[in-house]
Amino acid sequence: MLNTKSKELYEEAIKYTPGGVHTSIRNVDPHLIFTKSEGAYIYDADGNKYVDYQSAFGPYILGHNYKGVNERVIEALSTTDLYGVGTTDLEIECANKITKHVPSAEQVLFCNSGSEATYHAIRLSRAITNRTKLIKFQGCYHGWHDYVARNMLSAPDMIGKRDPGSAGMMDEAIDNTLICTFNDLDDVAATFHKNKNEVAAIIVEPIPHNIGCVMPEEGFLQGLRELCDEHNAVLIFDEVITGFRHDLGGFQKVAGVTPDLTTMGKAMANGYPMAAVAGKKEYMERYNTNPGGDVWFAGTYNGHAVGTSATIATMEIMETEPVHKHIFELGDRMRNGIREIHERLGIKAYVAGFGSVWTTYFMDFEPKNYTDLMKNDAEMYVSYRKKLIERGFFKMPMNIKRNHISYSHTKEDIDNTLQAIEDVLKELI
Ligand code: PMP
Repeated sequence: MLNTKSKELYEEAIKYTPGGVHTSIRNVDPHLIFTKSEGAYIYDADGNKYVDYQSAFGPYILGHNYKGVNERVIEALSTTDLYGVGTTDLEIECANKITKHVPSAEQVLFCNSGSEATYHAIRLSRAITNRTKLIKFQGCYHGWHDYVARNMLSAPDMIGKRDPGSAGMMDEAIDNTLICTFNDLDDVAATFHKNKNEVAAIIVEPIPHNIGCVMPEEGFLQGLRELCDEHNAVLIFDEVITGFRHDLGGFQKVAGVTPDLTTMGKAMANGYPMAAVAGKKEYMERYNTNPGGDVWFAGTYNGHAVGTSATIATMEIMETEPVHKHIFELGDRMRNGIREIHERLGIKAYVAGFGSVWTTYFMDFEPKNYTDLMKNDAEMYVSYRKKLIERGFFKMPMNIKRNHISYSHTKEDIDNTLQAIEDVLKELI
């Protein structure tokens, strides 16, 4: 595959921007410059076409540049945009839809990114409980801010230890975020006991997709619900990835466990910048959008017509078309197809996933937490992905990253991918 134009443009990009990219971990080899996207496909500057499974880390549940969403955004922008005062008919319609579908969402507020949403949910939890500490799980990602940017993709010797994800973080923030092991209720219970009446909230990705697809064991999410109730702490489900992608009501609907607060983003607007924090009315009314509320919630671009119209359109398509049926069926086709290839080639690997999300861990058992993933063959994982990119199937060339299927992917895309996977595996073993 020729990458001459990408190489040239990358050299130019690094002149103007540190590393040439505008968010961390985008600077990966091969340094491709993308110029076009459509449905299930993305194209680089040299005209190479890729079936896209990166999905910009998950938003494109319908597919790139999806006509039905774009048209609604353009239509909205022909008459409206943003006012900075009052509200809009689009904001009301959008909020109505979300509260209708998401079990925990009695009320909702819009912001522009998942990081903002988790920041707001944590601040609200602290105000509600009058406590400071936060429980998060090793490997989970909840955004870039100081409350949560620790113990994400920790090195093996730093698992569960004090592992800030960035220089420049506040010590107080790092030290008030306690790290537990996913799927280990005893660990969470012990952490509550050690920090009696100090824990404001648990924040959790109901499926930690930031480390691929580690599924919650039966009873784990319910156990977190019960521990929060017992200790008067707030349960926050960070559904920035799982929300809308696994069900219009989020994974909380699938699991039958209702958190106090939910954060959402990504798939809700099919790639347009949009995020939300939602929850119990009694809690949400503490935000100072409500007269008398004492928890600051603000943002110049909150509720912009781009995000609200895109969300309404995306949700409407999910309500009226068999989006989840399609992406779940293709997810199963992919996982079953890969398992069958592994069996035929005698490869011991674990194909993980839920619905439209999947990954292959190069280890021979189902991981229950981040520590288990240290058994994954990282070198193999990345080489496998790079070789698929060379063949025109884009997956993030990084360890323990997940893949996403959209409504625009077809059975043919999946079958072509399976053929390429088989070819690559034959080369690698
Ligand atoms: N929470 C989760 C679960 C995420 O995966 C992400 C982003 N990958 C965030 C929060 C942060 O969202 P954003 O990048 O939009 O700030």
